[in-house]
Amino acid sequence: MYPAPIEAYFAPRTIDGALQCRAEAGDDAMFIAGGMSLMQAMKARLATPRALIDLNEVEELSGLAKGPRGVTVRPLTRYRELAVTTALHGALQAIGDAASTVGDRQVRNAGTIGGSLCWNYVASCMPNVCLCLDATLVLASLERGERGVPINEFLIGPLETARRDDELLVEINFPASKVYGVGSAYRKYGGTVDGLPIVGIAALIEVDETGLCTDARFSVGGILPTARRFDGVGDALLGRSGTPAAFVEAASAAADAIETQTDHLASAHYRKVLIRTLGRDVLAEAHARATGG
Ligand SMILES: Cc1cc2nc3c(=O)[nH]c(=O)nc-3n(C[C@H](O)[C@H](O)[C@H](O)COP(=O)(O)OP(=O)(O)OC[C@H]3O[C@@H](n4cnc5c(N)ncnc54)[C@H](O)[C@@H]3O)c2cc1C
Repeated sequence: MYPAPIEAYFAPRTIDGALQCRAEAGDDAMFIAGGMSLMQAMKARLATPRALIDLNEVEELSGLAKGPRGVTVRPLTRYRELAVTTALHGALQAIGDAASTVGDRQVRNAGTIGGSLCWNYVASCMPNVCLCLDATLVLASLERGERGVPINEFLIGPLETARRDDELLVEINFPASKVYGVGSAYRKYGGTVDGLPIVGIAALIEVDETGLCTDARFSVGGILPTARRFDGVGDALLGRSGTPAAFVEAASAAADAIETQTDHLASAHYRKVLIRTLGRDVLAEAHARATGG
């Protein structure tokens, strides 16, 4: 189907310009970034914006910056760039893992991390990864200025976030971490190579100089209502060295505790099997990165 008629199209060059356009166009306007989700929704007439505010000319919304307080990823950064940058090695490598396996080449060339977070499709990779890595999102509006929202408060449910319609996502901030002794990883499993996952797992592991685990985080995507963290993995791994048995135990604890759903893609039981097996492998990979293995 063709999208419903669009009455106005804006291509601002600055964040302020984009917010001004939103104020001018009103509630029927939507921002568009890579268009990988929104265009599909418009063609199916699930979204019928009367005005589009195209963010692609807003250079200040693109790129990465590393500072003493952590790493800032700007929302218009494309998957293709996130997949190859070395700025995310160590604690944030899970972002690169996810970016390099999202969709197909066209999706990775056009799709953006910000679009994925704001759309928050249930199985999407980036909401899950950002949840594991403790991101804080900065949202800007013309009337209320900027506010920071922790990712666990931002992700609400399928296609639902804490972003208000007039707010533009302007930054995704990740806290500073140790340079060595920390690693993260992400893997997904789906019905097709280039499709959305049935289950995706992100994990982060931090170790001390003797190799014992001092922090472990684990999050699961592909489950309802949205990606979820499971802190019991930390309980299973803290103070222990990374052995295959420890990873199996930790991932099994997550699979037992996390509620999964049956749908047209997979049964609830199959999702638990995936959490257990994929989870074990992702924990092992994050640990290997943390220990330089
Ligand atoms: C064939 C195919 C395969 C795919 N496979 C995967 C996969 O394996 N894993 C996965 O995670 N995803 C997958 N996707 C989904 C894809 O990753 C997302 O569609 C994409 O990341 C969304 O980003 P975008 O820039 O295209 O957003 P858009 O489609 O442009 O926008 C999405 C939403 O975000 C809003 N928005 C965008 N940027 C901002 C901003 N800065 N501030 C406020 N609102 C904003 C828009 O208004 C819209 O509501 C796939 C998609 C396709 C078509």
